[in-house]
Amino acid sequence: MIPTARTVGFVPGERNVFFHILTACNLSCRHCYINPEQHGRETLPRTTMERWIELFARPHQKSNMIFLGGEPTLHPDLAHGIAKAKACGFAVTVDSNGYLFHDLLDRTTPELLDYLSFSLDGPDAAVNDPIRGQGVFAVCTDNLRKAVARGYAVSVIYTVSSLNIDHLPRMVALLGELGVKRFFIQVIGLRGKPAQDGGICKQGSEATEWQVSPEQWLRVVPEVARMAAEQGIHVTYPKVFLGEDETFECAGIVADNFFIFPNGRVYRCPLCEDYPIHAWRIENDTLLHNEGLTEDQFFTLNIAEGCVMNKLLQPDTIHYDADGRPEHRISCCLLKQEVQPADLQDKM
Ligand code: SF4
Ligand code: SF4
Repeated sequence: MIPTARTVGFVPGERNVFFHILTACNLSCRHCYINPEQHGRETLPRTTMERWIELFARPHQKSNMIFLGGEPTLHPDLAHGIAKAKACGFAVTVDSNGYLFHDLLDRTTPELLDYLSFSLDGPDAAVNDPIRGQGVFAVCTDNLRKAVARGYAVSVIYTVSSLNIDHLPRMVALLGELGVKRFFIQVIGLRGKPAQDGGICKQGSEATEWQVSPEQWLRVVPEVARMAAEQGIHVTYPKVFLGEDETFECAGIVADNFFIFPNGRVYRCPLCEDYPIHAWRIENDTLLHNEGLTEDQFFTLNIAEGCVMNKLLQPDTIHYDADGRPEHRISCCLLKQEVQPADLQDKM
């Protein structure tokens, strides 16, 4: 059976809490989305981290807690946060750049940590390191191997840009060799550094756009996902372009996602994170709705191009036909396609 992609609809009632516990990082990736002016520079104290986990806990509802940074393993109390989140009923993921500071593998367990995700942006150092930093590929893959050997469920996140899309097919062999069974392909967003650079990425004397064209994306990504699934790897990637018969839905309305930053800002939409339009804030350990112009007022706008924030912030991603109609509607950036290994599909 040939693995085929299916759209993963938003699950009513499921909560995803993306918790940035600090914004500091040991790396300075060229496409870093962290914006300290907007997200703060704090490292959350242990007790605050605990209280904010409790604030979002809904033990009787399926809830996922994703610890992020910056680099979350730089936080000395991450292992404590993992245990706390697990005790509060969350399925727990840590998204790391692979450095695994503070002996994370020794200080938590595969029972507490459901997924440990490693970010790699190339199948070798020659592709990865010009984006993420000198020597990063070696450290990240070494630690990933250690995590697999210790029984942790690992996944890899690959952020597709014009710098690395041509090398994506070679990730399939690398993931097989590393023993990775879960692969997330992301699309680069114009947030943080790429937005500050006007979406332009310099390579020596050359300059190119960070984002890939719809044709490049559709030619490469679904095929790589299929190839990986044939090797037994479960792949998830953003839908990006909606078919004519598909319904547009904004996760800000139909899903329960929270993107928490250490300065107390709480967004419902990741595309908004460069702007002070967060719908919610945490003040004195209480979740409060913001007044004035906030992101949720954009969610209800119905436009032919699909996602409103994409149209406002990344208009170059939309192409129009001769009659001025958008060639594609852009889906919510949180809507995913999933390709399962053939053996898993047969059981669904
Ligand atoms: S590892 Fe993440 S937080 Fe750190 S510089 Fe890279 S993208 Fe930014
Ligand atoms: S990306 Fe677009 S569709 Fe998704 S939550 Fe944000 S505004 Fe809504």
